[in-house]
Amino acid sequence: PVNRSPEMQAERLKLPILSEEQVIMEAVAEHPIVIVCGETGSGKTTQVPQFLYEAGYSSDNSIIGVTEPRRVAAVAMSQRVAKEMNLSQRVVSYQIRYEGNVTEETRIKFMTDGVLLKEIQKDFLLLKYKVVILDEAHERSVYTDILIGLLSRIVTLRAKRHLPLKLLIMSATLRVEDFTQNPRLFATPPPVIKVESRQFPVTVHFNKRTPLEDYSGECFRKVCKIHRMLPAEKEDQKDSVEEVRKFKKSRARVKKAQAAVFKPPPEGTRLCVVATNVAETSLTIPGIKYVVDCGKVKKRHYDRVTGVSSFRVTWVSQASADQRAGRAGRTEPGHCYRLYSSAVFGDFEQFPPPEITRRPVEDLILQMKALNIEKVINFPFPTPPSVESLIAAEELLIALGALQAPRKAERVKQLQTSRLSCPITELGKTMATFPVAPRYAKMLALSRQHGCLSYAITIVAAMTVRELFEELDRPAASEEELAKLKGRRARVAQVKRIWAGQGASLKLGDLMVLLGAVGACEFAGCSPQFCEANGLRYKAMMEVRRLRGQLTTAVNAVCPEAGLFVDPKMQPPSESQVTYLRQIVTAGLGDHLARRVQSEDLLDDKWRNAYKTPLLDDPVFIHPSSVLFRELPEFVVYQEIVETTKMYMKGISTVEAQ
Ligand code: ADP
Ligand code: MG
Repeated sequence: PVNRSPEMQAERLKLPILSEEQVIMEAVAEHPIVIVCGETGSGKTTQVPQFLYEAGYSSDNSIIGVTEPRRVAAVAMSQRVAKEMNLSQRVVSYQIRYEGNVTEETRIKFMTDGVLLKEIQKDFLLLKYKVVILDEAHERSVYTDILIGLLSRIVTLRAKRHLPLKLLIMSATLRVEDFTQNPRLFATPPPVIKVESRQFPVTVHFNKRTPLEDYSGECFRKVCKIHRMLPAEKEDQKDSVEEVRKFKKSRARVKKAQAAVFKPPPEGTRLCVVATNVAETSLTIPGIKYVVDCGKVKKRHYDRVTGVSSFRVTWVSQASADQRAGRAGRTEPGHCYRLYSSAVFGDFEQFPPPEITRRPVEDLILQMKALNIEKVINFPFPTPPSVESLIAAEELLIALGALQAPRKAERVKQLQTSRLSCPITELGKTMATFPVAPRYAKMLALSRQHGCLSYAITIVAAMTVRELFEELDRPAASEEELAKLKGRRARVAQVKRIWAGQGASLKLGDLMVLLGAVGACEFAGCSPQFCEANGLRYKAMMEVRRLRGQLTTAVNAVCPEAGLFVDPKMQPPSESQVTYLRQIVTAGLGDHLARRVQSEDLLDDKWRNAYKTPLLDDPVFIHPSSVLFRELPEFVVYQEIVETTKMYMKGISTVEAQ
């Protein structure tokens, strides 16, 4: 029996999903797999675990597991559900990459999808769970997709053992055909329960013309126009709409500003929320009446063959645009102003492509191989990744020694028939236990010697978190800001040179800078003041700290004799250690090798200061933010290539010519 407070109970009763409790619970009782669809805010995440708890799905010490693609959601939802149920966090708990509060008493456990994947590696049948809920399945995050494939098999295995496992897949959209119309995944299509939420009509207004550029300026002008032209919300409000609260575009700020968004705006003011695509799904902001939609989305794009990434602004899908419009009709009829024509809308893709088709998959393939799934190509993916990206992933893992290299003739045959099936090696199994990309896992696996482990952990943690330094390349709005930016750039360049050092240590390049930055920052107690003064992002540095702790634990588990601990007063590496670190880095980034173009090849000016890589025909360059920008060593390895105005290598270290 759950003892909810009367206020909480009254709030719950307002949620559309409450009227579906019986339908959902009957479907769960009758079917092993059930799909629940309902708009954001209809109560799926907070209520369905409670229904299951009250129906006894956590009896006999078993657990109701709920996965979330995002860590913040796992933490916040566990707190919210504990509060609603009047239970302690010892009973309704969470587990994310770095931390958790799960106890013996835990009955409802929120976790990230990555955490559940790790648990499957330890106990394939997930015997401690009677129910697993995969939340936000419409987001099609890579790990949720893999979990759907794995759980489709686990449910069958559990049924054979007469220890049934129930699987619930929850989605904020009705686009679930990839799950239901996919006989390889589910031979019998699971039932779909639709939660009707109150949706008021939204009038959609298209622009006559579609502006080519400056869509943010266009947005701003439209918002101001709506604000001037449209009536105040209530009779007694004078038109004293002075304060327009604005929330910055960055994802992080949207989360931090979250609490403020939920509060009603002060009397006589109009709330204006500037949101990214995050607002398309996971957040519920009450009382929105007008939506202005620029129709754009900014996403990281990866080239399938070369792995070169770039940020591209593209049109959203029709589904996303409709999702954005839907925001205006949650509490009363609303309007959506689309800053593009209906013809342009007609050309949008119907749905956004799932993440698994858009990014490299080597981490995923390594995790799957660690689960003894050798023929990845036969795996029941909701949407399979492309064959090219599967091949690229296997080739990289073979090169890193994580998979057994087949004999050449065998490999040729495999490639011709797309029947890839290389088994995992012992090294690969070790690598799979480190929660970082395979290249970095290889570096960790190699760094036992010469007392280099703690340095390698620090470098890997910093490379995984990325963007430790604040962005200083942004355009300035005024002369004054430009001068300030220039000053900061000079200051940051100076501290980077200090951290990189001279001679042997400078050869480790940007990775030496990372090591120096983390070392100096920890020495100073990782204070926000230190970060601010040295151009470091405080949030990123805190993330590095957590990841270092976690990697240290993971390395100790494989290699207990190392007896590692995170030392806040880490000494800089010796000259011979730096040399060894460069070898380790080269082993992990071996395929990311570039050679400076020789002067005799300089026929064309576009090759000035350029580098040549095995995969690309075009020149690549050292990014100006690199400490090796002026050094121009003959051979380098790079962490990644990002395409902006040119193709730039980032995270660079030098390699000795052989
Ligand atoms: P869904 O998963 O269908 O999007 P949720 O279960 O997350 O819906 O949310 C249901 C309701 O609970 C929403 O109206 C939301 O505003 C409210 N809610 C969720 N989390 C909190 C919280 N931390 N504080 C206050 N209200 C919350
Ligand atoms: Mg939800």
